[in-house]
Amino acid sequence: MNENLVSKRILVTGGAGFLGSHLCERLVAEGNDVLCVDNYFTGRRANVAHLMDAPNFDLIRHDVTFPLYVEVDEIYNLACPASPVHYQFDPVQTTKTSVHGAINMLGLAKRTRAKIFQASTSEVYGDPSQHPQTEEYWGNVNPVGPRSCYDEGKRCAETLFFDYRRQHDLRVKVARIFNTYGPRMHPNDGRVVSNFIVQALKGEPITIYGDGSQTRSFCYVDDLIEGFVRLMATPDDVTGPINIGNPGEFTIRQLAETVIDMTGSRSRIVSLPLPENDPKQRRPDITKAGEVLGWTPAVDLRIGLRRTITYFDGLLAGSKTEASP
Ligand code: NAD
Ligand code: UDP
Ligand code: UDP
Repeated sequence: MNENLVSKRILVTGGAGFLGSHLCERLVAEGNDVLCVDNYFTGRRANVAHLMDAPNFDLIRHDVTFPLYVEVDEIYNLACPASPVHYQFDPVQTTKTSVHGAINMLGLAKRTRAKIFQASTSEVYGDPSQHPQTEEYWGNVNPVGPRSCYDEGKRCAETLFFDYRRQHDLRVKVARIFNTYGPRMHPNDGRVVSNFIVQALKGEPITIYGDGSQTRSFCYVDDLIEGFVRLMATPDDVTGPINIGNPGEFTIRQLAETVIDMTGSRSRIVSLPLPENDPKQRRPDITKAGEVLGWTPAVDLRIGLRRTITYFDGLLAGSKTEASP
């Protein structure tokens, strides 16, 4: 609709969350009219407080499982709790958020003819039997386990995106996001990077689940947001799904040792049971992102961890209130 104007009207669902707040910041800085929609389940106003005075930023409290009528040119659909602790808190609501949320945002895109981006996930690959994972791999997902509300909800959302494209000719962009970290991760969300950093800074034991030999690939948030914006700007025939993540692969034990080293912490490492269905290894094949988006991550793990440690250090030192759930 408004594509030739410099300023686009852009809706970001889940915009007060970790990734959403960085995306809003980037889109506001580029001069777009940004509408952030969030129900504050895991997001916080504090994450976007620095944008509140911007004339081109608006914030609405709204749950995407209910219809939303606004006029927009682009939609980034990020609303969904992302950490296992949060998405397993109310699993039925998690599935509703992914599925009903996708239907409502796709209905909105259909009515306004907006371009729509879906924050999908590497979890659609489940506990993968192919390594690293390419977009062609169909995944190995348990449909009835404790992670299924998230994994299957996201898989169904992808299905809806491609059916709306086939049935209604919508312009869709699906990104499969791999583990991402950085400032504004929720300090209590249970994800490994935030857990280890907070534990190290507090001098508490570093909790490795299982023997720590499982692997993950960690992408710094700024790199990820660059990938989002590039994908949204692609021609209409580029739909994805496309992997966005950092292919550098580390064991969880290596991550623990790196965090201890970088914080100078005296924390010791303790072992706790491995959660059910915890994937053993995960690393994106980002060949397609390189070819289609000209994108590769630029921020090295230690540089990204340094920025994240600085953030949590400030949060823990400065405001006990903000650090609470
Ligand atoms: P987050 O929990 O910080 O952000 C999610 C946001 O969505 C929060 O602000 C939350 O309040 C909001 N939300 C949840 N349910 C909602 C609902 N029903 N209506 C409106 N808002 C709702 O998580 P994040 O890490 O920023 O993740 C953002 C998106 O990226 C999610 O869709 C997630 O599945 C996806 N993703 C993230 C990662 C990662 O490593 N961070 C990896 C893969 C996929
Ligand atoms: N919807 C919305 N905002 C809009 C248009 C639609 O939230 O601007 C919701 C609407 O409530 C509907 C869903 O999106 O439940 C799917 O819309 P679609 O037009 O695809 O389906 P239909 O309305 O025909 O069921
Ligand atoms: N993990 C861990 N200690 C923690 C938190 C997580 O050893 O305090 C492990 C977890 O079992 C998993 C990996 O770190 O193998 C990544 O977990 P996270 O919840 O961050 O993401 P996901 O499992 O969704 O990739």
